Parts: sequence; structure tokens; C-alpha cells
Amino acid sequence: MRLTLTARLLLILILIPQWGFSWGYTAHRIINRQAVHLLDSLLGEYFSHHINYLSEHAIDPDLWRRDKEAYPDEAPGHFIDADLYEAYPFRNIPRKWEEVVRKYGEENLMSWGTAPWRIEKFYNKLVQEFKEGRWTEARLTATALGHYVSDIHVPFHTVENYNGQLTGNKGVHKRWEADMVEEYLLDAARPRGPVEMVTDPVEKAFVIVEESFPGLDPILKAETRARQTIPPESRDIIPDWDRPMQGTEYIRILYEETADLAISRMEASSLRVASYWMSAWVKAGSPPPPD
Ligand SMILES: [Zn+2]
Repeated sequence: MRLTLTARLLLILILIPQWGFSWGYTAHRIINRQAVHLLDSLLGEYFSHHINYLSEHAIDPDLWRRDKEAYPDEAPGHFIDADLYEAYPFRNIPRKWEEVVRKYGEENLMSWGTAPWRIEKFYNKLVQEFKEGRWTEARLTATALGHYVSDIHVPFHTVENYNGQLTGNKGVHKRWEADMVEEYLLDAARPRGPVEMVTDPVEKAFVIVEESFPGLDPILKAETRARQTIPPESRDIIPDWDRPMQGTEYIRILYEETADLAISRMEASSLRVASYWMSAWVKAGSPPPPD
């Protein structure tokens, strides 16, 4: 039986646990929602009218990546293992797509992640749609762009050791960005403006990556402590993401030691999402939205 794309996405949404390998679904929705509140001008007014759409669809790219048949190139767009490309702070990674492909080869890029260029693609698409007055399409493009921009604010989306698998911290990825955030931090972020003008979407993405990357070590340190609270023979629960861990001492320790970091990454996410949106609109000539 062949299902339509919408039916397939709906099925994925129903069958898959509420997590998509990036900020949990709820956090993604909150980040886009708070980004709308940071906007002023006509764009802010228009997005406020559509705030529920922009928030609800924040998770769409995670649904796309699960549907590999329809979206075979989606997955690498959500991360970049920057330390596989070059050493921190990654200033020698070419910013131009053609150059980066020439330097490392497309096959490597597909496995190391391509988030900065996914962001560039959606940013340019958004500028074009604003220019042409295609506001309905622009809404979906904007919400997806917000997803990719938020993803690289998570330290695990910028490193080879993306799940703590290289340092004895296997499973930490989801426990930190989804379980801990959903148990303790959904109301914690208070993003502030002003929005920043993005002149080069790829360069800006690398600024974010450079900022996210150092967050890895403190989280791993906290995780190493947190896993001591679980008897060694039971620690295989940590990477088994079908098994819930909310309410455990493990999650509480992650929270106690890294809450500030998580809150600041969530606040930065909203600010940058708003910044990319506003910059795309200004670049398009600040066209007036429809009534
Ligand atoms: Zn994602």
C-alpha cells in the first residue's frame, strides 16, 4: 500500500516516541514560539498571527528525517560533527559548499553532517519566498529553518562524540537535551533581544557551532557523576531510549550541574532563530505581509 506523504508523516508522528534526536519536540516548539516574541516590525506582527503554526511545525524536519524514502538527504542537515572536519575552533573549514565538497568529499560530508549549508539553503529559500510574496510557503520554510538553527545550539549536534560513545557516556544525548529539559526546564528560558543581523548564514552557523562545542565537556563530566547513581549492571538503561528515566537521580544530577548551560543554549536558540528570520525578511526588501 502506498501512502501519501501526509499520511506517512502522520503515521510517523503517531508511532514514534516523542523525540527526534534534537531538542525534544516540546522544546523545539517553545524555541520557535519564543523567537516570534522577539520580533518587532511588520514581520513580527504577521508571525504573531501565525505563531501556533510556526510553533507546531517546528518538529517537521525531525519527521522528515525519519521518512528516509521521501527525504533521503534530510538527516545530515541536523548536525555537523565539526571536529571530524578540523580542530576547534573550526576556522579552516571552508564556508562555501563547492569548496567544502572539494576538500573533504561528499561522502564524508553526508556522514559528518552539513547543518550550516542546510541552514544556508533554507535561508535563501526564505528570502526568495518573501521576495515573491509566497507567504504560506515562507511560513513552513521559516519554521524548518528555526529547527536547523536550534539543533546546532545543542553541543551534541556539533561533535563526533555526539552520544558520549567515545568517553564512556553512551546515551547522554537524549537524556540531556530531551529528558532533562522536559522534566525541569520547559519554563526556564527567557530569551532577550535585540535580534542580530545575519549577513552570512553559513558564517553565522559556524559562530553558533563554535559556541556550542565547548558545552560538551561539562555535560560529560556531569553525566559521569550521574551514572554513578545507577548500579553498573543496570547502566544499559541509559542508551536505551525507549526506557524512561525521568524522575531519576541521574536526570536530577544532569540538571543540577548543567541547567545554566541548557537554559543559555535554549535562549540563544530563540534569539538566533528570530535573527535569521528577520535578516531574511530585510534582505528580501522588508516586503509587507498580506492582511
Ligand atoms: Zn533535528
